[in-house]
Amino acid sequence: MMKPTFSIIAPIFNEIDSIPELYKRISEVMNSTNDPWELVMIDDGSTDGSTDAIRQLGANDQRVRPVIFARNFGHQIAVTAGLDYARGDAVVIIDADLQDPPEVILDMIAKWREGFEVVYAVRSEREGETWFKEFTASLFYRLIYRITDVDIPLDTGDFRLLDRKVVDVMGQMRERHRFLRGMSVWVGFKQTGVEYKRAARFAGETKYPFRKMIKFATDAITSFSYFPLQMAMYLGFISAGISILVIPVVIAMRLAGSQAFFGQASTLIAVLFLGGVQLISLGILGEYVGRLYDEAKARPLYIVSEAPDQE
Ligand code: UDP
Ligand code: MG
Repeated sequence: MMKPTFSIIAPIFNEIDSIPELYKRISEVMNSTNDPWELVMIDDGSTDGSTDAIRQLGANDQRVRPVIFARNFGHQIAVTAGLDYARGDAVVIIDADLQDPPEVILDMIAKWREGFEVVYAVRSEREGETWFKEFTASLFYRLIYRITDVDIPLDTGDFRLLDRKVVDVMGQMRERHRFLRGMSVWVGFKQTGVEYKRAARFAGETKYPFRKMIKFATDAITSFSYFPLQMAMYLGFISAGISILVIPVVIAMRLAGSQAFFGQASTLIAVLFLGGVQLISLGILGEYVGRLYDEAKARPLYIVSEAPDQE
């Protein structure tokens, strides 16, 4: 088969009801470019029959290339596998639930033809999202922007086009806890955005429950900053500073005959406060040490049970 100009990557975890529509809309959009394209569908350990649906599409249409994981490895890893298997000159990452409208790809391609190497999609509006998701997402983007060392544009997800050059560089970054949108900014190159309205899910429920959102946010922060470690140090300085300031105050008060600060309560509060600060700092340290341990093991990022030829 001829090497495609465009690769579309769709990570799939239990999206059986969206798959036919996803395939249809992507085909329509991509056919209109008159360039050869491929759709890399990564099955991230689905249990709802999505795996068979993807296999079937691959059997019927040469342009669909199924990559089937041995188990669930998570969204960011699934996209990484997609980047590894994609062969196009430009690669587009898109969610399988059609929250990212495939039509926006045409705007991205236009920017790519102008010479941009990373074209990210900026969410100008969101539809059908709970206020909680909107609030936490908005908070997340702003927090990440403040504390990390890379300036990740606000309100951008993984929906983006990457030039082959960028895909190759990112392919060399094999870190385990991946925050792809940070990595794709970190590499540099000519970047720009296109605005879009984030749609509601076509079918099914979010595969990012609160627990996964927390893990994702922790990965994002620890991958791109030492801020939590610095916080631990600042907390240490602050509590040490307070205790030093309090000593002369207490002495002066005793000399003046005051009975304040006597007794167990004040001692207990001070001990518990310090104990808390120490445990939190230890926990933060543990997060980083655990990540180091994961990297040291150097296991493969994912395991495929079925995959197309890489070339
Ligand atoms: N996804 C995945 N593996 C996972 C979780 C999610 O491949 O462990 C896929 C999912 O099928 C979807 C995309 O990642 O195509 C984004 O997930 P979702 O729509 O649930 O996230 P949300 O849009 O709610 O943030
Ligand atoms: Mg979604």
